[in-house]
Amino acid sequence: MKYLKGVGPKRAEALARLGIRSVGDLLYHAPHRYLDATTVTPLTKVQVGEEVTCVGRVVSTGVLPTRKGLRVFRAVLREDSGGGPLECAWPGQPFLERQIKKGQLLLVTGPVRYYHGHQLVAREFVILADEGEAGPERGLVLPVYPATEGLTHRQIRGLIHQHLDALLALVADPHPKGLRAAVGLPELRAALAAVHRPATPADAEAGRRRLAFDELFDQQLVQARARALAKRARAGITFALKKALTTKLKQHLPFELTGDQRQAIREIADDMLAPLRMHRLLMGDVGTGKTVVALFAMLLAVENDYQAAIMAPTELLAEQHLATLTRLLEPLALKPDVLTGRLAAAEKAAARERIAAGATRLVVGTHALIQEAVKFQRLGLVVIDEQHRFGVEQRAALVEKGDAPDVLLLTATPIPRSLALTLYGDLDVTQLRERPPGRGTVKTALRAETARQKIYEFIRAECVAGRQAYVIYPVIEESERADLKAATVMAERLAKVFPELEVGLVHGRLKAEERDATMRAFRDNAVHILVATSVIEVGIDVANATVMLIEHAERFGLAQLHQLRGRVGRGAAASHCILLSDIPEAAPRLQAFTETTDGFKIAELDLQERGMGELAGARQSGGVPLRYANFATDLPLLEAARRAAGEIIARDPALAQPAHAAYRERIVQRYERGFELFRVG
Ligand code: ADP
Ligand code: MG
Repeated sequence: MKYLKGVGPKRAEALARLGIRSVGDLLYHAPHRYLDATTVTPLTKVQVGEEVTCVGRVVSTGVLPTRKGLRVFRAVLREDSGGGPLECAWPGQPFLERQIKKGQLLLVTGPVRYYHGHQLVAREFVILADEGEAGPERGLVLPVYPATEGLTHRQIRGLIHQHLDALLALVADPHPKGLRAAVGLPELRAALAAVHRPATPADAEAGRRRLAFDELFDQQLVQARARALAKRARAGITFALKKALTTKLKQHLPFELTGDQRQAIREIADDMLAPLRMHRLLMGDVGTGKTVVALFAMLLAVENDYQAAIMAPTELLAEQHLATLTRLLEPLALKPDVLTGRLAAAEKAAARERIAAGATRLVVGTHALIQEAVKFQRLGLVVIDEQHRFGVEQRAALVEKGDAPDVLLLTATPIPRSLALTLYGDLDVTQLRERPPGRGTVKTALRAETARQKIYEFIRAECVAGRQAYVIYPVIEESERADLKAATVMAERLAKVFPELEVGLVHGRLKAEERDATMRAFRDNAVHILVATSVIEVGIDVANATVMLIEHAERFGLAQLHQLRGRVGRGAAASHCILLSDIPEAAPRLQAFTETTDGFKIAELDLQERGMGELAGARQSGGVPLRYANFATDLPLLEAARRAAGEIIARDPALAQPAHAAYRERIVQRYERGFELFRVG
């Protein structure tokens, strides 16, 4: 690096701090923002108070002290066509006297103030041409580079621009034309030129997009390879398509599957029919019908003479699954078994015996399933509901009860696909976005404290009509005691407001049995209004509940609000979610929330809201931080990269073909595990 013109040992050190150790690094040191100086204001047209970009010849320069002892460099500009003059000032930068010379063509941007006439206080400048040289009398887009101590962004810009053409000449594009055309990407050399020397901001963006694609593509190549290797090590059961129970279920379903459900079932069946072990995550908002999809998978296992198990994080959820499965399986003359902690010891022992003997084909359970005493006769499929509520070991414990069973994970916590692809690199991901038809809609509204009486009357009317309501209170760790007190006080108050109705209270500090008892009473409509903290986030499906009032809505994250809202709108009746908040600063985000019910969209808003900070780990995925790609906005690009990378790895797993040598080289150099992953053979 230090042999590059303009780089001495000092500079080499500063550059190294920025991660620039080679001329290649320099070329890929991308601006973090751009200053749009494309619109040039004629020197005679500048107005006090405006931000302008001007271009002119330097006709005189000088350094003047000000009253405050600050030395100001000044240069007077005139246009070649005669316009001007305009004075430009650089407070505190007398050293510019050595750089900015009479006769140069200069581009300057900054605000205009009144100081013995118009004066442009320079923020940025570029020397467009030297004395006697003609220059482009037009504007520019100025790249602003990440800088470091001892090296300003202008110095970096100068260095890059000085060497750009020579460096670009060395660039070869690793992508074939076909791929570039398919994704709509500029050629690499053009992209790098556009990133460093864009003619317009759109130009710069097109260049960045190409670099973003490349880094995502590399990352996806690594992941596709890692996935392929993991699969190779993951020989599993090859199920056969028997079309016995699964077809019967299809015929007897009391509803039509949604398109997303059918697609998910297809993807899962493909996995199960393959000799590799399935390792798939099914993501879908509450109510999108994940259980039925899981049931198809379970039946595929069962009709192949294997057992299938589904594990849920709470007794209540397990009961719910049991009810759903029992109902759906009735026409098939098949009965799911159950194993939960609530069963009496003798019942548990009996269930364990049935499971061990293979009398049980299909079992629903809780953590009770992973106890040592539980042995399966021939476990072929493991389904884990709300998978994030289990630890890795717990999930593994169930999986280990079989001989390499297929694994299907369910989650109602949608995360942006971009994150899923980077976080769960070794998982295949299926999304359910579509909601089954015939559901009532959920109307969401943002209301202030002043509306409380009206809201109560509304709740009363709904409950009198036979429906039920949730009232949600935020409880956070830091103020847990006070929060719980508020929820308790609220429950007491509501009991007085609604003497004719039954009001229940659940929160995380209650004993599990107590909480379950109240939840069951609510499920059975013996409790009409349930005051709850966020403990009900996941879980119960009470189709009859049509109103949810969320107190202090501003204290919840968007994803959490969405989870809560998912508790209503599960029946055919129209439902309402009312956000109560008196905090004006929170209004815009809460308002945005009222306007969409798409969990994936909300997950993306949530991601933007919380920012990348919390997701630093995710950003580092694969060992290389993303520099050009943006999680929130580059999803289509990520998907294109994933597709392209997947196709290449499928054809040439170790990137051994000459056409892929450049890909391989880049990955081996940049990724810690690159070498190991792409060792040929
Ligand atoms: P979740 O994705 O939240 O786990 P469930 O699987 O519990 O959703 O399904 C919620 C309810 O919707 C269940 O009662 C289920 O029987 C029903 N359901 C599932 N799929 C459909 C469909 N395609 N049409 C109508 N109802 C459906
Ligand atoms: Mg569910």
